Amino acid sequence: MSKVDLMSLTKEELIIFLEEIGEKKFRALQIFQWIHKGVKSFEEMSNLSKNLRQKLSEKAYINQVGIEGKFVSKIDGTTKYLFLLEDGHIIEGVVMSYKHGNTACISSQVGCAMGCSFCASSVKGLERNLKAGEMIAQIHTMEEDFGERISNIVIMGSGEPLHNYKEVINFLRIVNDEDGLNIGNRHITLSTCGLVPEIKDLADLRIPINLAISLHAPNDEIRRKMMPIANKYKIDELIQVCRYYLQQTNRRITFEYALIRDVNDGEDEAYQLSRLLKGLLCHVNLIPVNEVDERSFKKSQHNQIKIFEGILKKHGIEVTIRREMGADINAACGQLRNRHLQEKDRK
Ligand code: SAH
Repeated sequence: MSKVDLMSLTKEELIIFLEEIGEKKFRALQIFQWIHKGVKSFEEMSNLSKNLRQKLSEKAYINQVGIEGKFVSKIDGTTKYLFLLEDGHIIEGVVMSYKHGNTACISSQVGCAMGCSFCASSVKGLERNLKAGEMIAQIHTMEEDFGERISNIVIMGSGEPLHNYKEVINFLRIVNDEDGLNIGNRHITLSTCGLVPEIKDLADLRIPINLAISLHAPNDEIRRKMMPIANKYKIDELIQVCRYYLQQTNRRITFEYALIRDVNDGEDEAYQLSRLLKGLLCHVNLIPVNEVDERSFKKSQHNQIKIFEGILKKHGIEVTIRREMGADINAACGQLRNRHLQEKDRK
């Protein structure tokens, strides 16, 4: 029997595990607290008997994520990590410091299957899903290295979180648990390219996190050129499920819109987007696209971005232009990992 990764279990699942190995369920709380306080071995769990510690080390383990590389932006202190997983895979994470606290951006998969044309994460496709514990451990490792508490989480690193639904839901539950990382749902943002059935399921769970939808286009024709997922779900279906999410959670939705020169940044598109989102409780985040070595698109011109923003504003749509953080350290999803893998190949 392979060992159980305890960091991926919710408190309830940990109780079941302990009962299965013939232990009292109150131990679950003690073990849960130790793990999420960041201890790395059962030896350190000083309120457990030696026997239990021994038994745990035979049947279970505490997953760890190591630091393979670290890059600190000279412009704004944004810190980007290359993390090493236990099986040797590499993923990325970022910490951004704001006045209101530290935000961690974490990955949910190794690589990505979604194939968006402008994104570096899917250049090599999907390698595998991350376990909840591997998402948690990214945060532990960042807190330990950074020396400060993480107060906000965005699931916007590599991977499509709703394509790894079960583990991501466990992650959300553990992060939010007062005996876990104790981060409020309102401080967590999940970004998705728009998997309609999973958004519906998430809405039904009524976990009041922030939902960000990578929309990037105002109509299906343009969206299909940028995002293969648009062949599966129409924008109309996506907007409809967003309305449902809003109804269920009462949370304003964010639409991300990466502006690519001559692809989706024209005035026509801004008018279409305004019509599409009219009357919806939402916010549009305009992102000057990060140019990616492996892809050939260009960033929109600054004045074009301002025109686009102006049209949305004129229609009463809440909009901001995303500040570019860590522009000097390739902070766009997947770029560092790709470079790292290329360098490894050359060696
Ligand atoms: N798969 C999820 C989350 C990861 S990507 C999603 O699609 O939302 C996080 C955000 O970064 C998404 O909005 C994604 O579209 C965007 N993104 C990807 N590549 C980018 C690039 N080169 N420049 C700007 N934004 C990019």
